[in-house]
Amino acid sequence: MEKGKEPMIELAWGAHTDRGRRRELNEDSFVAEPPLFFVADGMGGHTAGERASATAIEAFSELRGRSLVGLDDVERAFARAVRDVSGIGAGIDAAGTTISGVAVTEQGGEAYWLVMNIGDSRTYRLAAGVLEQISVDHSEVQELVDKGEISSAEAERHPRRNVITKAVGAGSYDEPDYWLIPVAQGDRILVCSDGLSKELDTARLTQVLSEEESAQAAATRLVHEALLHGGRDNITVVVVDAIRDDGQGALDDTQTHVLDEDTLPRDLSKERTGDGPIQFG
Ligand code: MN
Repeated sequence: MEKGKEPMIELAWGAHTDRGRRRELNEDSFVAEPPLFFVADGMGGHTAGERASATAIEAFSELRGRSLVGLDDVERAFARAVRDVSGIGAGIDAAGTTISGVAVTEQGGEAYWLVMNIGDSRTYRLAAGVLEQISVDHSEVQELVDKGEISSAEAERHPRRNVITKAVGAGSYDEPDYWLIPVAQGDRILVCSDGLSKELDTARLTQVLSEEESAQAAATRLVHEALLHGGRDNITVVVVDAIRDDGQGALDDTQTHVLDEDTLPRDLSKERTGDGPIQFG
């Protein structure tokens, strides 16, 4: 880092995926490489789900390696994902996939998490010991919860809990939801497929994410706990930390990346302003 520059946000991350105990294939795909941290959970017969999730992730590949991306970059990549996934199968109900996660972007010279979601994979943020689900599931049970017809707890046991209402492909041309959240030191982002969130409750996710220091250790342990809990679906976990720039570097094998764009001076010691996530789109 050059002298005189403001401290930059440094990211550390880890990822782990497992086929689970019941499924023959792992139809989840993910990317965990700055500035993209996304999980996709494919669906469709035979290998269609595998292809769909991999195709959707691949549509974002040209953004890999950049320090930052803009909303327009993400929107273009998403449109490419829809086109490419829709092209996989001939039938309208062919291959489809969820996609959820964060891209690192900036607004007014400050780093932001650009959260994107379509379907029922999830993006959470752990901040000050509190785990908040940022994404809102596009699922039948979420609609029932929104109408006040069932509780969140009932949704977890509902027979139609696996029915999603929006996807990439599978005959859906819906746009994803987006949120912008300022990156604060100490933020820990969790992105996961429903193979995690349907096995472990929020309290357990919070505990594991709070106990494990390294992002990689947290990702690996969450997958293992989901397996121990039944592993009824494919499980994919990506954990991203905005770590303190204290010169200590990465813990163990967790990978790190410094966002050292000259255009991003910022005072990382500044308190979060208390603004909640901004949803748009
Ligand atoms: Mn799944």
